[in-house]
Amino acid sequence: KMRAPIDYEALRAGIMGGDMIQLAKALTLVENKKLAFSPELLHFLSSLDSDKKTLRIAISGPPGAGKSTFIEQLGLKLIENGHKVAVLAIDPSSENTKGSILGDKTRMEKLSKSENAFIRPSANVLEQGGIRSSSYDAIKVCEAAGYNIIIIETVGVGQSEIQVTRITDLLYLLLSPGGGDELQGLKKGIVEMADQIIINKADGELMATAEQMKKEYRNAIHLSRKQSTPFPPRKVITVSALNDSNMEHFPAEIDSILESEEISNYIREHRKIQDAAWFKIKAQELIYHLITKNSQFNSAVDELAKREDIYQSLIELNQRFDNIIS
Ligand code: GDP
Repeated sequence: KMRAPIDYEALRAGIMGGDMIQLAKALTLVENKKLAFSPELLHFLSSLDSDKKTLRIAISGPPGAGKSTFIEQLGLKLIENGHKVAVLAIDPSSENTKGSILGDKTRMEKLSKSENAFIRPSANVLEQGGIRSSSYDAIKVCEAAGYNIIIIETVGVGQSEIQVTRITDLLYLLLSPGGGDELQGLKKGIVEMADQIIINKADGELMATAEQMKKEYRNAIHLSRKQSTPFPPRKVITVSALNDSNMEHFPAEIDSILESEEISNYIREHRKIQDAAWFKIKAQELIYHLITKNSQFNSAVDELAKREDIYQSLIELNQRFDNIIS
């Protein structure tokens, strides 16, 4: 089937000019596995690089903790301060089950109406417990489109908090009172990863539990390793995203981060490390892509799969292809 060629130049002009439809189109292309290594797409992505100061914040937490409520309030405040905010959601539902935790409710209605916000729900599905490499590209596309604050929303499923720090500058962990015992197991690791621990729903009947939880997490933070970044000190903060209370702390902190020369330098160096790690992941994907596209390899796999001794088949496959692993 013939497909109309993609006009990358028009796409680039569109997103640089703030056209959200072109931006959404570009993100769809980036997420397309078949296009992932096309020279046209890669050229397009490298032509987008911008030197603007940006901040990439991961906001992670269990389902129902109030992530979308919090992100909407935070986003509106940031926009009031003159920022442009993109929200990319990473959906922990697998591609196999097709069930989406994030996708099917109307989320962040007020924020999505703002012309300085761009919201992309369930754009990136977690893959094999990891974040798909296209998420990193998606961040860069949004930055090129002029969004200077990129919020990556992930549902806390243990691994996802750790994974998301590979593509972001900061991790905010959002919890709510009575989040359940499953958190206890994760607590230590998460406390060490998170730049801020936010206890949401500190209102009404939940107020007392939220304050108690704050104390516990403060102790945990106190015991965890010393902070090694120039970011503001790790804190445990109670908020009510629903009532918009205690929220003003965050836009103020984000502004101070963006203004700090020391933090900018740190972020620049940290992103170089992330870039290198990303390149290695892409290189592995490229090898996988190349080998599974190879028809000789594929027919050998099909043939050897019919044999009885699968270990012997593997040895032979390896030998036939020049001892790939030796
Ligand atoms: P998410 O799954 O983490 O994105 O959570 P949502 O933002 O969808 O919120 C889950 C539920 O908690 C919704 O019914 C919200 O209205 C409610 N909620 C969110 N923030 C607060 C809050 O600060 N206080 C209270 N009492 N409820 C909240």
